[in-house]
Amino acid sequence: MKSLLCCLGREKRKWREIEAEVERLDQSPTWDAPDNALMMQAFEWHVPDDQKHWQRLQSVLPSLRQIGVDRMWIPPGCKAMSPSGNGYDIYDLYDLGEFDQKGCRATKWGTKEELLELTRAAQKIGIGVIWDAVLNHKAAADYTEMFPAVKVDPKDRNVEISSPQEIEAWVGYDFPGRGEKYSSMKYHWHHFSGIDYNAVDNQNAIYKVVAPNKGWATDVSKENGNYDYLMFADLDYSNPEVRQDVMKWGEWIGKELPLSGMRLDAVKHYSFSFQKQFVDHMRRTHGPNWFVVAEFWRGAPGELLDYLQKMDHKVALFDAPLVYRFSNFSRTEGADLRKIFDDTLVKYKPQHAVTFVANHDTQPGQSLEAPIASYFKPLAYALILLRSEGYPCIFYGDLYGIKEGVKNPLAPSCGGKLPHLALARKLYAYGMQRDYFDKRSCIGFVRYGNLRHPSGLACVLSNGSASKKRMFVGRKHAGERWTDILEWNGETVMIDDRGYGVFPVSARSVSVWVDAAAEGRDMFGDFYSDIYKH
Ligand code: CA
Repeated sequence: MKSLLCCLGREKRKWREIEAEVERLDQSPTWDAPDNALMMQAFEWHVPDDQKHWQRLQSVLPSLRQIGVDRMWIPPGCKAMSPSGNGYDIYDLYDLGEFDQKGCRATKWGTKEELLELTRAAQKIGIGVIWDAVLNHKAAADYTEMFPAVKVDPKDRNVEISSPQEIEAWVGYDFPGRGEKYSSMKYHWHHFSGIDYNAVDNQNAIYKVVAPNKGWATDVSKENGNYDYLMFADLDYSNPEVRQDVMKWGEWIGKELPLSGMRLDAVKHYSFSFQKQFVDHMRRTHGPNWFVVAEFWRGAPGELLDYLQKMDHKVALFDAPLVYRFSNFSRTEGADLRKIFDDTLVKYKPQHAVTFVANHDTQPGQSLEAPIASYFKPLAYALILLRSEGYPCIFYGDLYGIKEGVKNPLAPSCGGKLPHLALARKLYAYGMQRDYFDKRSCIGFVRYGNLRHPSGLACVLSNGSASKKRMFVGRKHAGERWTDILEWNGETVMIDDRGYGVFPVSARSVSVWVDAAAEGRDMFGDFYSDIYKH
């Protein structure tokens, strides 16, 4: 009994300290605090190949800006192997939809002129454009060449499973539609380290190029022994001509288009030391604020943390482990919500984690599919959008739905309320954060606001039955009536004299509680339903 009283006493003291801290922070001079940042992945795998995507994106820029998007990751816009290619099947770094190559002048997304218009319009409205840089490989060579190679074991690429042989493979690139414009570099077999097809005997296998001072890069992921080879013709960054051409391309594209940074695709498959030099070079050329987010796909954070270390923490990384947590939790009855952030990148390196819920690879039917039960999507988005840790990225397919290319088309996720959650981030998710991760199936947290964004919010999530949580939102809110901006719970919560409210949440749901009279509440009506009209 004595120890219980002692414990309660400690708890009370702790709460007094928190209340005092919140009230002290209320007075802190944050009147010029910036709005929260928000990235958007501006495509999904099955966006129609009508060459109108750059135009589509331009038409939605104002509505995206209204819900707080300030960076847009656009799809890889270099010429692909075919007119419908998404660009990960990259043919020519220097063709942004300008030259008649691989069956078309435009890319799947549109022409270079339209791309330029989109990026200029985005810059003007305050949305930085992030270029998706596909630097691991090239596809759809113009001709074949003969060269020596060995087959390697796909499960352990350090193990050779044939003797050296002359193979004929698609590795000759002379870019006949572009000629020498922008770059005179032509690619040949010695610029690559591997390929997956031998035309001599029509065989598919992983072939490693054999020549003096050649081989797989050693500073890549150790998955499958050595994960240098991913697909198509694998670029060899130990070749100085390759390094020079790609560095030059990085300079060129940042001058050609008003970009604010890059996403580096498939970074676990090419030289980390080259990547570091490349990022340094981009910041020397385009300024120190050039943003870089790398895609290192791994379900556990260990290798991601190693990679960040090797990159001197100069880049951000997508938090793939968090997506797998969301996926598993959403499909596990009784999962312990208090542990939702365990073993995620955002837990260990919040300053370097780009948090997300789905992307073009995890969407239904794709190679890294990570299905998230539809009831859980708004919980996942609330957890990335409304908390202080991580830099969130919302997915085009979740915002607008996935209409084509899938057996079952998907409506916009979160019952169409993803824009509400994004707007709640922009207006209310500021200042100190207090967690109430105290119940397995129901967790909550409070944001206390700052001087410029004083409203704050209280969020409650349940993956089980309906529940309630008593939380402290601050004495300054005493007497206010708080309601759920998502309108999934219709109650009104009165804040008591001590600054507490009892916040309900419906079964398997989330509610985001804000003072009904808070500035901006009128924006949650039909105001931005325009977002769905394109
Ligand atoms: Ca590679």
